[in-house]
Amino acid sequence: MEEDLTTDLMVLQSHLDGMLERVKSNGNTLRRFQMFEMGLLNLNSLAEMLEYILASQDFFDLDYIGFCLIDAKGELQTYLMEDGFNIDKQPRLILLKNNDILQATFGCSINPYLGLYKTAKCAHFFTIDKHKPASVAIIPLVRRGKFLGALSMGSLDAHRFENTMATDFIEHMTSVVSVCLENHLNYEAMKRTSLMDTLTGVNNRRFLEQRLGEEIDRAQRSVEALSCFFLDIDFFKKVNDTYGHQVGDQVLTLVAKTIREQLRNNDVLARYGGEEFVALLANIEEGMAFDIAERIRKKIKSIVVEAKGESVTITISIGSVTYKPSKGTHINSSQVGVDLIEKADAALYSAKNSGRDKVVSAGVISDHMALANLFK
Ligand code: GH3
Ligand code: MG
Ligand code: MG
Repeated sequence: MEEDLTTDLMVLQSHLDGMLERVKSNGNTLRRFQMFEMGLLNLNSLAEMLEYILASQDFFDLDYIGFCLIDAKGELQTYLMEDGFNIDKQPRLILLKNNDILQATFGCSINPYLGLYKTAKCAHFFTIDKHKPASVAIIPLVRRGKFLGALSMGSLDAHRFENTMATDFIEHMTSVVSVCLENHLNYEAMKRTSLMDTLTGVNNRRFLEQRLGEEIDRAQRSVEALSCFFLDIDFFKKVNDTYGHQVGDQVLTLVAKTIREQLRNNDVLARYGGEEFVALLANIEEGMAFDIAERIRKKIKSIVVEAKGESVTITISIGSVTYKPSKGTHINSSQVGVDLIEKADAALYSAKNSGRDKVVSAGVISDHMALANLFK
């Protein structure tokens, strides 16, 4: 009898130990998730958020962590590249053109998929480098009934993710990730639209003012040339007067598109005012700048817009200037910025005065000249 009681007690003790162990382990998991979430809430951009999540594999003791994002218009890719996020070096970020895959995987449900890695179901969400995970969790990220993307986790342990396991932690974390993601997406969209010219789709003057200083700092740091164009459509008022504002708008949009196509992805192009644009070309010397400007001028000349049964053509005048920083000098970037715009504008003025449909170069501004202007 006494022996039975002792055995019972021992069994009870062992149950209790097991429960305490589980409570302790749950407590640890909770603390880990909380730490992760605190970090997540302190991030400032979509790029930072993705880097943080994609680097959390060891933190959660996973063999794989990946992120899918819906990027229907390719905008996210541009935002991320502009923020210095190297997509090529992050194969575990998968950008989807639409939500078809998410719809097919989750339907109307927002519950995660937990279980064995099945190629047909899971392969879209994983960029496998060596070993396929044995078990996975694919968690849809949803806000306001809309798929934003998915978070995918994988383990070589077949029992790590099972469809019977409690998902409270995962679901809680997913909600936080979804809210953060939505915030970053909204913020990025707002930031871009406030820096964008709505008619032509190129950047606006506010953006140029922000970037000019940054480009000059960069040119000084890397001791590389920075060229600046001031471009103005010739006799544009006549286009409006003859064919109406709508045709004028159409021409403006086509001109912006044509200039953009002649520049590299990371060159800056902004609509400075009505029919005036400014471009900044990093690491482009004076001679090369002149050739690019000539190329733009010729392309603009070949634009044809049909209006009132006529073929409307236009020309453009361009003023160009190149800043050449010297090693070790750090002239105030806003001073150099003012100089660049002034010189490019003056060159444009000469192009207009000498017949239009022309490129005029104001030559090179050195640090020495920028400094002299500072004390004028
Ligand atoms: P110039 O060769 O000397 O530059 O002559 P211009 O006629 O191009 O220059 P001017 O400054 O006299 O006229 C610019 C015109 O651009 C006047 C204005 O109506 C037009 N404009 C400015 N913004 C817009 C716009 O958003 N849409 C349209 N359609 N026209 C615009
Ligand atoms: Mg004009
Ligand atoms: Mg003008």
